[in-house]
Amino acid sequence: MTIKTNKRAKYTYLTLQLLPTEKEREALQTTWNNYKEACNTFSRTKYWKLAREKHMDVSACKKEYLKSARALAQRLLHGVYEISIRHTVKMAYKRQESDKKLALIVFGEYDEKNIKHLTIPYLRKPTFNIDFAKKMCCLDLVDGFQHIAFTLLEGIPEPPASWEAIEVYLQPIYGTWYLTLMFPNPTANMDVSPDTNIVGIDRGEINIATTYSLDKGAKRYSAEDYSLPCEGGTKDDYHKNLFAKDVIVAKEIVERESPDTIFVLEDLHFNKLRKGWSYRNFSDAFIYLAALRHQCVFFCDPRNTSRTCPKCGEVTNTKRNRDEHRFICRSCGYGEKEIVNDDENAAENIYLRGRKELLKDDV
Ligand SMILES: [Zn+2]
Repeated sequence: MTIKTNKRAKYTYLTLQLLPTEKEREALQTTWNNYKEACNTFSRTKYWKLAREKHMDVSACKKEYLKSARALAQRLLHGVYEISIRHTVKMAYKRQESDKKLALIVFGEYDEKNIKHLTIPYLRKPTFNIDFAKKMCCLDLVDGFQHIAFTLLEGIPEPPASWEAIEVYLQPIYGTWYLTLMFPNPTANMDVSPDTNIVGIDRGEINIATTYSLDKGAKRYSAEDYSLPCEGGTKDDYHKNLFAKDVIVAKEIVERESPDTIFVLEDLHFNKLRKGWSYRNFSDAFIYLAALRHQCVFFCDPRNTSRTCPKCGEVTNTKRNRDEHRFICRSCGYGEKEIVNDDENAAENIYLRGRKELLKDDV
């Protein structure tokens, strides 16, 4: 039986670090600034329309700001950006809608408070081209095409030659330019049977990851054990350091399991950042490394994974003791005698939930 993966695992992402010259850096920055202005102006238009449909107060949006994506693309960039502006703004409001909210969305820098982190999508060729042999990418920037050198991040291998990026996303994070490539995931539709090796993974800050499988039980990958010396004191250095740790842990997890393994992760909204820690960084690197080993990732419902008792199924308001990190079930007493680590408990619940979902037509 072929599994139904959800939307997130249909694609796998690879992030490259750009190495622009001074002149190229200027072209990137101007493009990004103009793109930001275009998206923020178009965002007001979009908000004005949505708010009017809901009969809300639209006085915050002055009429002179109401511009079409086409007019903005032509004034600030060039025509080819119209589709990207539409896409960026539409996706942001769609996410809001699924959270049943409506507020004016403002785009800007990574980590800026109350700001939606802006990335520029290049949605179709020939607006981008990636050459792995030469380690050069070509992007359609504000003043035309630019060829920019890139490097792969530490520990991340090149994709197989047969993989072709279908979209790319450009973004600056703390002064470094990144390009994220989107590939169709060759392991998105893998076969699953009751014998399939299934591994649940919980993500956290104290433990970068905690895994659980029937064969191997629970294993914690504690952030302390993976402390790498951070080479500088800037936010950029810190961010790169966190990402490097994520890659090491992701690699260890995928290499510990056989090909055809299915990993279960929680389907979290990853637009919120906590102390520069991003769920998205880990899951993107993880899906990519797993796909290279012919393993796949399945996303499960994240609700109450840390509050559910794997023995009796009761959802309890556990008195989570921050120092102890124990899970205790108030209903059946699981965890009262033996010590059950809360992250290991969550990983087991994710495993159980994933297995149930994956095999629901099979048992
Ligand atoms: Zn219980």
